[in-house]
Amino acid sequence: MEKTIFKNSVKGKRGIKFSKSGVQDKDLSALLPENCLRKDDLNLPELTELDVIRYFINLSRKNFSVDNNFYPLGSCTMKYNPKINEQTANLTGFAEVHPEQPEEYSQGSLELMHELQKALGEITGMKKVALSPAAGAHGEFAGMLIVKKYFEINGEKRTKIIVPDSAHGTNPASAKMCGFDTIQVKSNSRGQVDIDELKKLMNKDIAAIMMTNPNTLGLFEENILEISEMAKENGALLYYDGANLNAIMGITSPGLMGFDIVHVNLHKTFSTPHGGGGPGAGPIGVSERLIDYLPAPVVEFDGEKYYFNDNIKNSIGKVKPFYGNFGIFVRAYTYILMMGSDGLIKVSEDAVLNANYLKEKLKNHYKLPFEQTCMHEFVFSGDIQKKQGVNTSGIAKRLMDFDIHPPTVYFPLIVSESMMIEPTETESKQTLDNFIGIMKQIAKEIEENPEQVLKSPLSASVSRVDEVTAARNPVLKYSL
Ligand SMILES: *Cc1c(COP(=O)(O)O)cnc(C)c1O
Repeated sequence: MEKTIFKNSVKGKRGIKFSKSGVQDKDLSALLPENCLRKDDLNLPELTELDVIRYFINLSRKNFSVDNNFYPLGSCTMKYNPKINEQTANLTGFAEVHPEQPEEYSQGSLELMHELQKALGEITGMKKVALSPAAGAHGEFAGMLIVKKYFEINGEKRTKIIVPDSAHGTNPASAKMCGFDTIQVKSNSRGQVDIDELKKLMNKDIAAIMMTNPNTLGLFEENILEISEMAKENGALLYYDGANLNAIMGITSPGLMGFDIVHVNLHKTFSTPHGGGGPGAGPIGVSERLIDYLPAPVVEFDGEKYYFNDNIKNSIGKVKPFYGNFGIFVRAYTYILMMGSDGLIKVSEDAVLNANYLKEKLKNHYKLPFEQTCMHEFVFSGDIQKKQGVNTSGIAKRLMDFDIHPPTVYFPLIVSESMMIEPTETESKQTLDNFIGIMKQIAKEIEENPEQVLKSPLSASVSRVDEVTAARNPVLKYSL
């Protein structure tokens, strides 16, 4: 493992050397009150500039990213982030705009936000979009606040949200954080929401149904219109988890399916970088009846100028300082313009084609729990390999030896030993064929010599951890 930068410290090394200022030294205690003075020396590593650069560059080389290699992490949509997105985001007018700059001096930036709101509205089939939520889960949270406020204002007491058992964990979490109880609806043997089960759960306590379509098994919900009718008849709202729109863009939309609220992940479908803790964006769109509930601000155009509208009648309020992560909006807008409407349709078609290609080529080697045509991703079970001595975690670790990021594992929870594979449309046939070859080889290795496979990863910077010792004697503190 790489040493911490503190371990590289050598007393007396310096990154920069200041020339004498000529100003007379003064003791800090003459300038600051006693309680603000440091008792001990500040513990900082002493290094040259070159030491620091080498340290961080070498650390960064241990990172795995979509710019290095194939990254089929299901549901996370690790598609290529086109570099032109960075170029536009770095244009001086966008990169140096200040959040407090008056509207009259930021018309171009406001126009971009307005155009992005419109584009996302068209793609999702929603009447109006607010850009400010900073992530998918944050969009869900804002959406659930809207559901809550809608029923409050309409004088109805509804306390429950229905969530399918295949849903992303953020769905029930967001509902819960807004004070709702969640009820799980089961999937049937075809990986679809069980309509009969759903009927039984429907009553006047239900505020909304949260659906993901395609669901997290990568399957399109065949009964989506029936589900949406059922919710409407019951007076419930329909929430659409649109984190992964890359299977349906330009082909269908949450709006066409009758939904009221959608969040989209710009860092998935719209090719902006996945944060690594950095900025993201999870804009939400709503149908006609919820326009007045959107989080503020929404960018409007009065025929002459663009402006932030903070006075939305029943708004849930602000969910983010200022208006969200602007640099991310520039990247997503660039992507949408670069693709154009035909391009976005092609994205969906290719995402679905790539996933089905992998599924068909590998289904004789890994257990495929659901046979039907998949959308942008699919789920295998590692049950066969587990019986032979290597579970899904072992397969994931072996893949790392081939410089391939493991797929999402052990999610969704309803498939045992699950591996959720999403190639995305940005990968070529050569890359997919390489992955197919490696997955077949791993299946064969497990059949022939599972003990050997269990030694992986052999090439990663962190090798296989001793899981038993880690569980028994967890070291929860790392000292510098
Ligand atoms: C990624 C994802 C989310 C959460 O999005 P974040 O931006 O990570 O908060 C929600 N639902 C689904 C289906 C997702 O794939």
